[in-house]
Amino acid sequence: MKAAWPFSKLRAGIEARERTDKVSARVRRLLVKTLYTQPSSLAIGALNGIAATAIAAWVSDHPELLIGSLVLTIIAVARVTAALGISPDSQKTSTQKLELIYEIGAFSYALVIGIIAALTVWLGTSAEVQVLMVANALCYGVAVAARNAGRPSIAIGQLTLSCVPMMIVSLLMGTLAHITLFVTMLLLLPAMAAITLNIFKVLRDSIAAAETSAKLAEKMKVLARTDVVTGLANRAGLNHAMVETMMSIDENSRLALIWIDLDRFKEVNDLLGHPVGDRVLSEVARRLVNVCPEGSTISRFGGDEFVVFCPVKDRHHAELVSSEIHAEIMGPMRIEGDRLEVRASLGVALLPDDGKDADTLMQSADLALYHAKIGGRSQTRFFDRSMTRDLVRRREIEDELRAALQRDELSIFFQPIVDLETGRIRTFEALVRWFHPEKGELRPDEFIPVAEETGVIVTLGNWITAQAARIAAGWPEDVTVAVNLSPLQIRAPGAALGIRNALREAGLDPHRLELEVTESLFVEDSHSTANFIQELSALGVKFALDDFGTGYSSLGYINKYPFNKIKVDRSFVSGENVGRKSEAIIRAVAEMGSRLEMEIVAEGLETIEQVQAVRAAGCTLGQGYYFSRAVPDYLAAMLLAQEREDEMLRFGGN
Ligand code: C2E
Ligand code: CA
Ligand code: CA
Repeated sequence: MKAAWPFSKLRAGIEARERTDKVSARVRRLLVKTLYTQPSSLAIGALNGIAATAIAAWVSDHPELLIGSLVLTIIAVARVTAALGISPDSQKTSTQKLELIYEIGAFSYALVIGIIAALTVWLGTSAEVQVLMVANALCYGVAVAARNAGRPSIAIGQLTLSCVPMMIVSLLMGTLAHITLFVTMLLLLPAMAAITLNIFKVLRDSIAAAETSAKLAEKMKVLARTDVVTGLANRAGLNHAMVETMMSIDENSRLALIWIDLDRFKEVNDLLGHPVGDRVLSEVARRLVNVCPEGSTISRFGGDEFVVFCPVKDRHHAELVSSEIHAEIMGPMRIEGDRLEVRASLGVALLPDDGKDADTLMQSADLALYHAKIGGRSQTRFFDRSMTRDLVRRREIEDELRAALQRDELSIFFQPIVDLETGRIRTFEALVRWFHPEKGELRPDEFIPVAEETGVIVTLGNWITAQAARIAAGWPEDVTVAVNLSPLQIRAPGAALGIRNALREAGLDPHRLELEVTESLFVEDSHSTANFIQELSALGVKFALDDFGTGYSSLGYINKYPFNKIKVDRSFVSGENVGRKSEAIIRAVAEMGSRLEMEIVAEGLETIEQVQAVRAAGCTLGQGYYFSRAVPDYLAAMLLAQEREDEMLRFGGN
């Protein structure tokens, strides 16, 4: 009882030290696992112990030693069997249990081998037997003190238990040699304990360090694939998921890549601030997670784009999923008290129909999205082959457009806008034409969108305004020129300066320039647009609202900006669906125009009946093939000259 006291104290000290070292559960598990590594060494040790004690018992012929040898054999066999039966990697056995099982076996084995060694001394067996067993017990103790350093309490406990019986017997024998043996072992204990603790520290620290860096690496990997704002996957995360999915699917599987772009999101950011923008993105992310089928990878592609990669049964199922996504995103949301409605355009491509690899699939979905956007936004488009042809043509146009500007292939045509009361030309609208050496005449509808996308529109637009102003400077004072501006051109830095330069170089009075803008301009970014309009109208430049009735028909901006003219889109005059409704609309717009002192232009007049109808409805100006197509500048000048000549004749005739 008394002898046990210092050991329990030692043990408690070691345990306390391990506790304060705060080894994590995982590190502890790994350390305990070191006890179970190399079960072969356990078996060799056991065999050696059994053989030595058996020989000692046989040679010395002492029944005590025989009993000891039998007990040791039972313990050794039990331990080896247990070690082979337990898998320290399986999480079924708890760390504590693993440790306890090992502890019981180790302690009882150490104690028995220690007692046998002590007995050989006590019973006065032959010197060889004593040497054999004392060396055996000591070697065992020293070896395990190193081997089991992963759990120092076990290692030091084993060493102590294998030595203590011999120490007691040595003391009892009392000869000089025995006392010296006692002292040697007494010194051995703390020395080995210190070594064990040192090994333990090195082992623990390196396991902990490896553990930390493994955890960090895992965390970095996750972070690198996660979008911080929404917590969804990012581009890298999607790529990774796509590669993994595509490797694991069979030939019959179908997957849909749904590319989502929020419409007018820039406006949300500009008007309500980035924090609100981020909230909107998170809300969209939440809705996507809600609505997407199981097994989908949902990612945000920076900005306001999301990409969903999901398993689908067939094309019809993909249509269903994308329409659900569309509806879910477009539902009103409440953010910081503001009610917001987000709209979105979707482009969808299917694997394997629209692309067999990730890159092609992405390109197809991107292209489908592009068509959804140019088709008026807030819609879903599925990829089809014709889109690729369009793309090829667009790429060609893009390359050639830059060259065309230098090669003088572009020119400006002019289409008269006529006073419906007097029949006189009041304005010429400048319309750009491209005479391509191989492709022939290209319509602006074909290349203006490409110019907008590639940014060429800024250079092109400045060139058009400069040309138009220069030509208009040669016309009679009362004839004005109208130039179309695309929203992108207006938002480009220095847009107003470009117009002012054109006016100055041409020597054209700003009152004689009219800029036609479309409703789409007011859908996004109100700040730079407002500045642009304010600055130029202060100079006297006029503004006309083009294609009225085709866009987002909000009348707010008509009130806000100083428009002189509204041009009613030709679909109300000569489109397929012209009827009583469109007549009523023209009438209402004309009425609004006369109240707000704005002129109303009817576009696309092709017949005398149409001219009469719009005049009766209250439009003051008209434009269309009925009067003239767009003509080159010299013909425009001739039209003006002829008009003046006719008037002279009329006046002369009077
Ligand atoms: P827009 O501003 O609405 O121009 C009127 C378009 O209608 C012109 O087509 C014109 O030729 C056409 N048009 C005129 N009268 C009639 C008619 O009686 N019947 C029919 N069916 N069409 C008629 P164009 O020249 O092909 O221009 C198409 C669009 O391209 C323009 O529509 C305008 O948005 C854009 N655009 C043209 N020139 C420029 C430019 O210099 N800069 C910019 N940014 N856009 C331009
Ligand atoms: Ca126009
Ligand atoms: Ca128009």
